[in-house]
Amino acid sequence: MKTISIIVPCFNEEETINIYYDAMTKLKEETNKFNFEYWFVDDGSKDRTYSILKELQKEHSDEVHFISFSRNFGKESALYAGLNEVTGDYTAVMDVDLQDPPEMLPEMFDMLEEGEYDCVGTARADRDGENKIISFFSNSFYKVINKMSQTKIIPGARDYRLMTKQMVDAIKSMTEYNRFSKGIFSWVGFKTKYLPYKNRERSAGSTSWNFWKLLKYAVTGIVDFSEGPLMFATWMGTIFSLTSIVAIIAIIIRKFVNPLSSVNGWASMVSLILLIGGIQLLCIGILGEYIGKIFLEVKKRPIYIVKDKK
Ligand code: UDP
Ligand code: MG
Repeated sequence: MKTISIIVPCFNEEETINIYYDAMTKLKEETNKFNFEYWFVDDGSKDRTYSILKELQKEHSDEVHFISFSRNFGKESALYAGLNEVTGDYTAVMDVDLQDPPEMLPEMFDMLEEGEYDCVGTARADRDGENKIISFFSNSFYKVINKMSQTKIIPGARDYRLMTKQMVDAIKSMTEYNRFSKGIFSWVGFKTKYLPYKNRERSAGSTSWNFWKLLKYAVTGIVDFSEGPLMFATWMGTIFSLTSIVAIIAIIIRKFVNPLSSVNGWASMVSLILLIGGIQLLCIGILGEYIGKIFLEVKKRPIYIVKDKK
Protein backbone atom coordinates (compact mmCIF):
# COMPACT_ATOMS: atom_id res chain seq x y z
CA MET A 1 0.00 0.00 0.00
CA LYS A 2 1.22 3.50 -0.80
CA THR A 3 1.80 6.09 1.86
CA ILE A 4 0.46 9.64 1.75
CA SER A 5 2.41 12.12 3.84
CA ILE A 6 0.16 14.86 5.13
CA ILE A 7 1.43 18.24 6.23
CA VAL A 8 -0.97 19.90 8.65
CA PRO A 9 -0.14 23.41 9.83
CA CYS A 10 -1.72 24.22 13.20
CA PHE A 11 -1.90 27.61 14.86
CA ASN A 12 -4.06 27.75 17.98
CA GLU A 13 -6.03 24.68 16.92
CA GLU A 14 -6.63 22.86 20.23
CA GLU A 15 -10.30 22.38 19.35
CA THR A 16 -9.87 20.99 15.86
CA ILE A 17 -6.91 18.57 15.92
CA ASN A 18 -8.74 15.56 17.34
CA ILE A 19 -11.82 16.14 15.17
CA TYR A 20 -9.50 16.23 12.18
CA TYR A 21 -7.58 13.12 13.15
CA ASP A 22 -10.78 11.13 13.73
CA ALA A 23 -12.22 12.18 10.36
CA MET A 24 -9.00 11.17 8.60
CA THR A 25 -8.80 7.82 10.37
CA LYS A 26 -12.38 7.07 9.40
CA LEU A 27 -11.57 7.93 5.79
CA LYS A 28 -8.47 5.71 5.81
CA GLU A 29 -10.38 2.74 7.18
CA GLU A 30 -13.27 3.17 4.76
CA THR A 31 -11.16 3.49 1.62
CA ASN A 32 -8.38 1.10 2.68
CA LYS A 33 -6.20 2.28 -0.22
CA PHE A 34 -3.35 4.14 1.43
CA ASN A 35 -1.50 4.69 4.68
CA PHE A 36 -0.93 8.07 6.24
CA GLU A 37 2.17 9.71 7.62
CA TYR A 38 1.12 12.85 9.45
CA TRP A 39 3.39 15.82 9.95
CA PHE A 40 1.56 18.24 12.20
CA VAL A 41 3.33 21.57 12.51
CA ASP A 42 2.62 23.56 15.65
CA ASP A 43 3.27 27.08 14.42
CA GLY A 44 4.02 28.66 17.80
CA SER A 45 0.49 28.23 19.13
CA LYS A 46 -0.46 30.02 22.34
CA ASP A 47 -3.09 27.46 23.38
CA ARG A 48 -2.80 23.71 24.14
CA THR A 49 -2.02 22.69 20.54
CA TYR A 50 1.50 21.51 21.46
CA SER A 51 0.44 19.22 24.29
CA ILE A 52 -2.46 17.82 22.25
CA LEU A 53 -0.06 17.00 19.43
CA LYS A 54 2.36 15.37 21.88
CA GLU A 55 -0.44 13.19 23.23
CA LEU A 56 -1.63 12.26 19.76
CA GLN A 57 1.91 11.35 18.75
CA LYS A 58 2.33 9.13 21.82
CA GLU A 59 -0.92 7.32 21.10
CA HIS A 60 -0.29 6.82 17.38
CA SER A 61 3.49 6.88 17.12
CA ASP A 62 3.37 4.64 14.03
CA GLU A 63 1.90 7.38 11.85
CA VAL A 64 1.82 10.69 13.69
CA HIS A 65 4.77 13.09 13.78
CA PHE A 66 4.92 16.69 14.81
CA ILE A 67 7.21 19.68 14.67
CA SER A 68 6.82 22.51 17.11
CA PHE A 69 8.17 25.96 16.26
CA SER A 70 9.80 28.28 18.78
CA ARG A 71 7.29 30.99 17.82
CA ASN A 72 4.69 31.78 15.16
CA PHE A 73 6.43 31.79 11.78
CA GLY A 74 3.30 31.69 9.61
CA LYS A 75 1.58 28.99 7.59
CA GLU A 76 4.05 29.28 4.71
CA SER A 77 6.97 28.43 7.00
CA ALA A 78 4.99 25.57 8.51
CA LEU A 79 4.41 24.07 5.05
CA TYR A 80 8.10 24.33 4.23
CA ALA A 81 9.06 22.65 7.51
CA GLY A 82 6.66 19.80 6.71
CA LEU A 83 8.03 19.37 3.20
CA ASN A 84 11.51 18.93 4.65
CA GLU A 85 10.33 15.93 6.68
CA VAL A 86 7.94 13.95 4.48
CA THR A 87 8.92 10.50 3.22
CA GLY A 88 5.67 9.18 1.67
CA ASP A 89 5.01 8.33 -1.98
CA TYR A 90 2.72 11.32 -2.25
CA THR A 91 2.45 14.43 -0.13
CA ALA A 92 -0.70 16.30 0.78
CA VAL A 93 -1.07 19.72 2.34
CA MET A 94 -4.20 20.15 4.45
CA ASP A 95 -5.71 22.58 6.92
CA VAL A 96 -6.66 21.10 10.26
CA ASP A 97 -10.10 22.77 10.41
CA LEU A 98 -11.73 20.35 7.90
CA GLN A 99 -12.33 23.20 5.43
CA ASP A 100 -10.26 21.03 3.10
CA PRO A 101 -12.63 18.06 2.64
CA PRO A 102 -10.83 14.76 3.46
CA GLU A 103 -13.29 12.81 1.29
CA MET A 104 -11.65 14.35 -1.81
CA LEU A 105 -8.36 12.59 -1.03
CA PRO A 106 -9.22 9.17 -2.58
CA GLU A 107 -10.19 10.85 -5.85
CA MET A 108 -7.00 12.92 -5.81
CA PHE A 109 -4.99 9.80 -5.04
CA ASP A 110 -6.55 7.89 -7.96
CA MET A 111 -5.76 10.72 -10.34
CA LEU A 112 -2.09 10.71 -9.39
CA GLU A 113 -1.99 6.90 -9.62
CA GLU A 114 -3.15 7.11 -13.22
CA GLY A 115 0.10 8.94 -13.94
CA GLU A 116 -1.34 11.71 -16.08
CA TYR A 117 -0.86 14.45 -13.45
CA ASP A 118 1.92 15.35 -11.02
CA CYS A 119 -0.34 17.26 -8.71
CA VAL A 120 -4.03 17.49 -7.91
CA GLY A 121 -5.06 20.78 -6.36
CA THR A 122 -8.36 22.15 -5.17
CA ALA A 123 -10.17 25.44 -5.70
CA ARG A 124 -13.24 26.78 -4.00
CA ALA A 125 -16.04 27.09 -6.51
CA ASP A 126 -17.87 29.67 -4.38
CA ARG A 127 -17.28 31.93 -1.41
CA ASP A 128 -20.49 31.27 0.52
CA GLY A 129 -20.26 32.12 4.18
CA GLU A 130 -17.37 34.51 3.69
CA ASN A 131 -17.39 38.22 4.43
CA LYS A 132 -18.55 40.04 1.25
CA ILE A 133 -15.86 42.73 1.44
CA ILE A 134 -13.12 40.12 1.84
CA SER A 135 -14.54 38.14 -1.11
CA PHE A 136 -14.47 41.27 -3.26
CA PHE A 137 -10.84 42.03 -2.42
CA SER A 138 -9.83 38.37 -2.84
CA ASN A 139 -11.37 38.25 -6.30
CA SER A 140 -9.68 41.54 -7.24
CA PHE A 141 -6.37 40.17 -5.97
CA TYR A 142 -6.51 37.18 -8.34
CA LYS A 143 -7.34 39.47 -11.26
CA VAL A 144 -4.45 41.83 -10.48
CA ILE A 145 -1.81 39.16 -9.87
CA ASN A 146 -2.77 37.20 -12.97
CA LYS A 147 -2.50 40.39 -15.07
CA MET A 148 0.85 41.40 -13.65
CA SER A 149 2.67 38.13 -13.11
CA GLN A 150 3.86 35.36 -15.40
CA THR A 151 3.03 32.93 -12.61
CA LYS A 152 -0.68 32.20 -12.95
CA ILE A 153 -2.85 31.45 -9.95
CA ILE A 154 -6.26 29.85 -10.28
CA PRO A 155 -8.88 32.05 -8.54
CA GLY A 156 -9.95 30.49 -5.26
CA ALA A 157 -7.07 27.98 -5.34
CA ARG A 158 -6.44 26.46 -1.93
CA ASP A 159 -3.19 25.15 -0.55
CA TYR A 160 -4.97 21.76 -0.23
CA ARG A 161 -3.27 19.50 -2.77
CA LEU A 162 -1.69 16.12 -3.32
CA MET A 163 1.61 15.96 -5.15
CA THR A 164 4.39 13.63 -6.23
CA LYS A 165 7.86 13.35 -4.76
CA GLN A 166 9.40 15.22 -7.69
CA MET A 167 7.17 18.20 -7.07
CA VAL A 168 7.98 18.13 -3.34
CA ASP A 169 11.70 18.18 -4.18
CA ALA A 170 11.18 21.08 -6.56
CA ILE A 171 9.39 23.12 -3.90
CA LYS A 172 12.05 22.25 -1.33
CA SER A 173 14.67 23.63 -3.72
CA MET A 174 13.02 27.05 -3.45
CA THR A 175 14.64 28.24 -0.27
CA GLU A 176 13.50 31.86 -0.42
CA TYR A 177 12.63 33.58 2.82
CA ASN A 178 9.53 35.36 1.51
CA ARG A 179 7.30 32.41 0.81
CA PHE A 180 4.04 32.78 -1.07
CA SER A 181 2.99 29.15 -1.43
CA LYS A 182 0.24 29.66 -3.99
CA GLY A 183 2.84 31.27 -6.26
CA ILE A 184 5.52 28.68 -5.49
CA PHE A 185 3.18 25.78 -6.30
CA SER A 186 2.45 27.38 -9.64
CA TRP A 187 6.02 28.51 -10.36
CA VAL A 188 7.58 25.04 -10.09
CA GLY A 189 5.33 23.88 -12.91
CA PHE A 190 4.30 20.20 -13.18
CA LYS A 191 0.96 19.17 -14.57
CA THR A 192 -1.73 20.12 -12.09
CA LYS A 193 -5.43 19.30 -12.14
CA TYR A 194 -7.75 21.51 -10.10
CA LEU A 195 -10.86 20.02 -8.54
CA PRO A 196 -13.60 22.50 -7.58
CA TYR A 197 -15.54 22.08 -4.36
CA LYS A 198 -18.13 23.93 -2.32
CA ASN A 199 -16.82 26.18 0.41
CA ARG A 200 -17.47 24.94 3.94
CA GLU A 201 -17.32 26.25 7.47
CA ARG A 202 -14.59 25.51 10.01
CA SER A 203 -15.20 22.41 12.17
CA ALA A 204 -14.44 24.50 15.29
CA GLY A 205 -12.26 27.39 16.44
CA SER A 206 -11.90 30.57 14.45
CA THR A 207 -9.88 31.78 11.49
CA SER A 208 -6.57 33.46 12.23
CA TRP A 209 -6.91 35.77 9.23
CA ASN A 210 -8.28 39.27 9.24
CA PHE A 211 -8.49 41.96 6.60
CA TRP A 212 -5.02 43.44 7.24
CA LYS A 213 -3.31 40.05 7.35
CA LEU A 214 -4.97 39.18 4.04
CA LEU A 215 -3.95 42.52 2.52
CA LYS A 216 -0.33 41.97 3.61
CA TYR A 217 -0.51 38.47 2.16
CA ALA A 218 -1.80 39.87 -1.15
CA VAL A 219 1.00 42.45 -1.34
CA THR A 220 3.56 39.71 -0.59
CA GLY A 221 2.08 37.62 -3.39
CA ILE A 222 2.33 40.44 -5.92
CA VAL A 223 5.80 41.65 -4.91
CA ASP A 224 7.19 38.09 -4.76
CA PHE A 225 5.98 37.07 -8.18
CA SER A 226 5.80 40.22 -10.28
CA GLU A 227 7.99 43.17 -11.24
CA GLY A 228 4.82 44.93 -12.45
CA PRO A 229 4.72 47.58 -9.71
CA LEU A 230 8.32 48.58 -10.47
CA MET A 231 7.34 49.06 -14.08
CA PHE A 232 4.44 51.24 -12.98
CA ALA A 233 6.99 53.56 -11.37
CA THR A 234 9.06 53.71 -14.56
CA TRP A 235 6.00 54.38 -16.70
CA MET A 236 4.71 57.13 -14.44
CA GLY A 237 8.13 58.78 -14.49
CA THR A 238 8.26 58.60 -18.28
CA ILE A 239 4.79 60.04 -18.77
CA PHE A 240 5.39 62.95 -16.40
CA SER A 241 8.81 63.76 -17.87
CA LEU A 242 7.43 63.81 -21.40
CA THR A 243 4.47 65.97 -20.38
CA SER A 244 6.71 68.50 -18.65
CA ILE A 245 9.03 68.74 -21.68
CA VAL A 246 6.01 69.51 -23.88
CA ALA A 247 4.81 72.10 -21.34
CA ILE A 248 8.25 73.79 -21.18
CA ILE A 249 8.38 74.07 -24.96
CA ALA A 250 4.86 75.53 -24.99
CA ILE A 251 5.79 78.13 -22.35
CA ILE A 252 8.93 79.20 -24.26
CA ILE A 253 6.95 79.59 -27.46
CA ARG A 254 4.29 81.61 -25.63
CA LYS A 255 6.97 83.91 -24.22
CA PHE A 256 8.02 84.83 -27.77
CA VAL A 257 4.54 85.07 -29.24
CA ASN A 258 2.96 87.01 -26.36
CA PRO A 259 5.60 88.39 -23.91
CA LEU A 260 2.93 89.92 -21.64
CA SER A 261 1.14 86.63 -20.93
CA SER A 262 -0.52 86.65 -17.53
CA VAL A 263 0.81 84.93 -14.39
CA ASN A 264 -2.41 83.39 -13.12
CA GLY A 265 -2.64 79.62 -12.68
CA TRP A 266 -1.30 79.41 -9.13
CA ALA A 267 -3.90 76.85 -8.03
CA SER A 268 -3.27 74.55 -10.95
CA MET A 269 0.47 74.83 -10.27
CA VAL A 270 0.09 73.79 -6.64
CA SER A 271 -2.15 70.85 -7.49
CA LEU A 272 0.33 69.67 -10.10
CA ILE A 273 3.19 69.86 -7.59
CA LEU A 274 1.13 67.87 -5.11
CA LEU A 275 0.21 65.26 -7.72
CA ILE A 276 3.78 64.78 -8.84
CA GLY A 277 5.03 64.72 -5.25
CA GLY A 278 2.43 62.10 -4.41
CA ILE A 279 3.38 59.89 -7.32
CA GLN A 280 7.06 60.20 -6.41
CA LEU A 281 6.34 59.06 -2.87
CA LEU A 282 4.21 56.18 -4.16
CA CYS A 283 7.03 55.05 -6.43
CA ILE A 284 9.56 55.29 -3.61
CA GLY A 285 7.14 53.21 -1.53
CA ILE A 286 7.00 50.55 -4.24
CA LEU A 287 10.80 50.51 -4.40
CA GLY A 288 10.84 50.21 -0.63
CA GLU A 289 8.62 47.11 -0.74
CA TYR A 290 11.10 45.35 -2.99
CA ILE A 291 14.16 46.57 -1.08
CA GLY A 292 12.57 45.34 2.14
CA LYS A 293 12.15 41.89 0.57
CA ILE A 294 15.77 41.91 -0.64
CA PHE A 295 16.90 42.95 2.85
CA LEU A 296 15.14 39.97 4.44
CA GLU A 297 16.38 37.67 1.70
CA VAL A 298 20.10 38.59 1.94
CA LYS A 299 20.12 38.19 5.71
CA LYS A 300 19.52 34.48 5.06
CA ARG A 301 17.66 33.96 8.31
CA PRO A 302 16.20 30.49 8.85
CA ILE A 303 12.63 30.09 7.60
CA TYR A 304 11.62 28.47 10.90
CA ILE A 305 13.15 27.40 14.20
CA VAL A 306 12.27 24.01 15.68
CA LYS A 307 11.68 23.70 19.41
CA ASP A 308 10.59 20.05 19.43
CA LYS A 309 10.16 17.32 16.86
CA LYS A 310 9.02 13.69 16.95
N1 UDP B 1 -2.09 28.55 10.30
C1 UDP B 1 -0.74 28.43 10.65
N2 UDP B 1 -0.05 29.56 11.01
C2 UDP B 1 -0.62 30.81 11.01
C3 UDP B 1 -1.98 30.90 10.62
C4 UDP B 1 -2.68 29.76 10.26
O1 UDP B 1 -0.18 27.34 10.66
O2 UDP B 1 0.06 31.78 11.35
C5 UDP B 1 -2.85 27.32 9.90
C6 UDP B 1 -4.16 27.09 10.65
O3 UDP B 1 -3.96 26.40 11.85
C7 UDP B 1 -4.97 26.28 9.66
C8 UDP B 1 -4.48 26.81 8.32
O4 UDP B 1 -3.23 27.45 8.56
O5 UDP B 1 -4.69 24.89 9.72
C9 UDP B 1 -5.47 27.79 7.71
O6 UDP B 1 -5.77 28.79 8.64
P1 UDP B 1 -7.25 29.35 8.85
O7 UDP B 1 -8.23 28.23 8.92
O8 UDP B 1 -7.18 30.28 10.02
O9 UDP B 1 -7.43 30.18 7.51
P2 UDP B 1 -8.71 30.20 6.53
O10 UDP B 1 -9.13 28.77 6.32
O11 UDP B 1 -9.73 31.00 7.24
O12 UDP B 1 -8.18 30.84 5.30
MG1 MG C 1 -9.63 27.47 7.62
